[in-house]
Amino acid sequence: MRDLPRADRLPHAVLVDLARGAIASGDWSSTTLESAVARFADSLVTEVINATGVLLHTNLGRAPLPTAVRSRTIEFDLGSGRRGSRQTGIGRLLGLLCGAESALVVNNNAAAVMLVAAALADGREVAVSRGEAVEIGGSFRVPEVIERSGARLVDVGTTNRTRADDYRRAITRPGADVALILSVHPSNYRIEGFTERPEVRELAALGVPVAVDIGSGLADADTPWLAGAPPAWLTDEPAARQTLEAGADLVTFSTDKLLGGPQAGVIAGRAELVARCAQHPLMRALRPGSLVIESLQSTVMALLDRRPEEVAFWSMASAPVAEVRARAERIAEACPESVSVVDLESLPGAGSAPGRGIPSAGLALDVDLVTALRRCAVPVIARLDEGRTVIDLRSVSPVDDEMITAAITSVLR
Ligand SMILES: *Cc1c(COP(=O)(O)O)cnc(C)c1O
Repeated sequence: MRDLPRADRLPHAVLVDLARGAIASGDWSSTTLESAVARFADSLVTEVINATGVLLHTNLGRAPLPTAVRSRTIEFDLGSGRRGSRQTGIGRLLGLLCGAESALVVNNNAAAVMLVAAALADGREVAVSRGEAVEIGGSFRVPEVIERSGARLVDVGTTNRTRADDYRRAITRPGADVALILSVHPSNYRIEGFTERPEVRELAALGVPVAVDIGSGLADADTPWLAGAPPAWLTDEPAARQTLEAGADLVTFSTDKLLGGPQAGVIAGRAELVARCAQHPLMRALRPGSLVIESLQSTVMALLDRRPEEVAFWSMASAPVAEVRARAERIAEACPESVSVVDLESLPGAGSAPGRGIPSAGLALDVDLVTALRRCAVPVIARLDEGRTVIDLRSVSPVDDEMITAAITSVLR
């Protein structure tokens, strides 16, 4: 077992367990053992180079993670030397970025939506448009999240058209007990043609608290952290600041999508409602750990300080295409002749800005080397396009360009 490739990186107890499994199955040949070890190693979280051109790749952890590991003051106030709250600093920072009175961090956006429904509508009704009772990313299903929170879903309007008046009728119908209107951005799903959706400001006039799940976590449609105007691919993407300005009482979003931070979810908006969420018993089960809060804190501070180059996602998304192309040319020069420079279109990914691409550039190899690239020391995740291997450099950090050169050279050898 010692000599099995990649086995040296696994704890002894894991190897023993895999060996026992093989014996129990009746096949403990070294090939079977080797493949069990390889399968296990493949299942671990591993650093890879994302050359797919999908910047927020759900299977690759969405926004790239800032990696720093040190002891940290998660619930400790350095000034007084007493116990503090993990939410104070980050809540303030997020409030500033999104123009919210208050903000709270939980494990992901699904947790944020569930906590909002549980804290504001437990045992009461949540009104949701039939066009927004959607499933996002496999297991986030709006009706189920509401049901699990202890609230009851009230369907409003129709699949393609829902008006403010439909909400009004649901709220004022005999026996109604609507405690919350929840509006959900359908993200990676679109209804086209004969459609209608009320504006947030119309919902805000109905006299019931309004929570908007904007999903993608664009903090501000004006992208003040970028030097120029907001990029074209962001058009129509809902943003936290503008949704709150339009009258929403709360917004919820993921922090590992367009915010560019680690995986977490945010509830931001009116202080009194955020406080009710913070005091709910579910909060303890949904709160993130120090690694996440520290990393989110650096992301938000970089955006507030207009240092987008320190947020991997924003640095990649806003790099001028000429710069990406120049990198591709430098890599191609250092590679064998069969590698060519190509124009590409990257995607923001993670259901953000659906249907909108970002001009990009990269490398193409005339053969299928996708599997071989995935087997490199630092795996490179490339894409296959009509039999050609395509490496999109917009989703690759420039510090990894040398690794890309080495990987291509080694797989072509
Ligand atoms: C992505 C998304 C979610 C799920 O967010 P997670 O952070 O993955 O839990 C929920 N709602 C909307 C609108 C989304 O876009």
